[in-house]
Amino acid sequence: MELSFYSKYPFTRGAKELMSSAKVRDEFQLMGIAKRRVVDAIGKGKIPLMSVELDDSQLLLQVASYAVSRMIVSLLKSRYYVNRYAIAEAKRASSYMASDSDENVLSVARELGVECEIDNYYSVSFQDYLRYAPKSVDYKLVNRRLSRGRVMLRRDEFVRILEEAVKLKIESELPLKTEGIPADINEAAEEVRRSIPKEPQPVAVSIENGEFAPCMKKLLEDLKTVENLSHTARWALAVYMLNIGMKVDEVVKLFSTSPDFDESVTRYQVEHAAKRGYKTPSCASMDSYGLCVSNCGVKSPLAYRRGVFGKSPAKHD
Ligand code: SF4
Repeated sequence: MELSFYSKYPFTRGAKELMSSAKVRDEFQLMGIAKRRVVDAIGKGKIPLMSVELDDSQLLLQVASYAVSRMIVSLLKSRYYVNRYAIAEAKRASSYMASDSDENVLSVARELGVECEIDNYYSVSFQDYLRYAPKSVDYKLVNRRLSRGRVMLRRDEFVRILEEAVKLKIESELPLKTEGIPADINEAAEEVRRSIPKEPQPVAVSIENGEFAPCMKKLLEDLKTVENLSHTARWALAVYMLNIGMKVDEVVKLFSTSPDFDESVTRYQVEHAAKRGYKTPSCASMDSYGLCVSNCGVKSPLAYRRGVFGKSPAKHD
């Protein structure tokens, strides 16, 4: 593989092997690029793509900066930062794959253990699909075309599956052991810490015993444990919170612990849901989204609340 491939996909085995033998000449520049990479990933949720005019020594710096970034992120000692970093790295790789050759995209897929066939459609095995498909209605298996145990995908959908696989790979490999990391990288990590937003603290939502429907309680717990919720799950939780009387600002804040939180997008969606007066999805819909976790014998998560406490579903202060 060429250096340009490794610079786009530095999480691959080949890139790692390259770094074990390559020598970066300008360590000061390397540290600068690595710090920027982490600050952009955690602070902005996005790592800018490389300029197209890089020579080999600059491409090598890009590969090396990934290795140093992983050490910096590990030194921050936060699962939230690790997840946010992994999301940004996965998005970066996804942007490259979107316009890369099939040959390169398939090489990335093989690295990630995702086996793909191309024949009019891109197809992946049922198991890989279940493991890596985004948890949204569009990707629900019932909405997909299946053939001989394989799931048919458009190219952009296949790339989206790989993006998730990249994210999970990076998350699973971090944090690294921090003993023995050189002092200059420790200093870089402290600099990065001063340049990134503080880790958001979970909003205290008092969940009286049994007050919240089990499905909503589970979503709230997933938010606190920094799980990335699907778009549908977020929407259902946001609408439910609005329906029980939470204010827009409070609902937005509730989502701030999510590693891919984007305040303006979240605010827009929550305000939109509040303005349109959306109703909490029924239990049947929750079930079809894969979000029902119990058999409560009610028709709606709001009815569960009413049934247990006799509370009005729309108590506005
Ligand atoms: S039955 Fe309804 S209220 Fe109970 S967990 Fe499922 S969706 Fe939620």
